[in-house]
Amino acid sequence: MGELRLRAVEKRFNGNTVVHPMSLDVADGEFIVLVGPSGCGKSTTLRMIAGLEETSGGEIEIAGRVVTHLEPKDRDIAMVFQNYALYPHMTVRQNMGFGLEVARVAKAEVRQRVDEAAGILGLDALMDRKPGQLSGGQRQRVAMGRAMVRRPAVFLFDEPLSNLDAKLRNTVRTEIKKLHQALGTTIVYVTHDQVEAMTLADRVVVMRDGRIEQVGAPMQIYGSPVNLFVGGFIGAPA
Ligand code: ADP
Ligand code: MG
Repeated sequence: MGELRLRAVEKRFNGNTVVHPMSLDVADGEFIVLVGPSGCGKSTTLRMIAGLEETSGGEIEIAGRVVTHLEPKDRDIAMVFQNYALYPHMTVRQNMGFGLEVARVAKAEVRQRVDEAAGILGLDALMDRKPGQLSGGQRQRVAMGRAMVRRPAVFLFDEPLSNLDAKLRNTVRTEIKKLHQALGTTIVYVTHDQVEAMTLADRVVVMRDGRIEQVGAPMQIYGSPVNLFVGGFIGAPA
């Protein structure tokens, strides 16, 4: 139910191609990591999947539906950004449920979904706090909870750990992995960090200059890089 297909999806800004026609099939429940140097087109690709950026060509299919020209809210996706702005005046519970309330989901259903997400993310004891009373890692978990309650077919993450310190990064990374195991949802995760890619992914997509260089399981890419760029990028310390 959470398959994702990119068919020759491309992006040009003012005649300058930043994502060359890119095709990728992501299976239901797969954890895919797009990795590559800064500026190689990872965020642009993710933003096209999310509907935050128009495509210049190609087709995007999510859960069996062509969504190429649909609004973000109609795509059955949820996105977690690196700047996970929460509403400062709302409690954790209100932050997590707000989007569902706007979408007119019944109150009892909102409560049930928020409680379930809180349980999985270990937020139960924090539900009445305001964002100002939380640590960075806790805030990031609330942002994930807010995405989870929408029960999207596909989760999109854009460098969700990059504003956290090294220790917290490990913790939240483990939580994201647990989240994936608990929910079995399809995830497309963008990072420039090779370690994150290798530890989280079912399959890694290595990008350079708007093109896919290699797609494969972490150990396959590590063991058999197709070229010097991939070998250097995955092999070199982060
Ligand atoms: P990454 O996420 O891999 O660091 P991006 O997808 O953000 O890379 O950017 C890819 C390229 O597209 C970069 O050269 C960037 O400058 C360019 N770019 C991104 N967004 C825009 C935009 N709105 N207008 C013009 N160029 C853009
Ligand atoms: Mg980016």
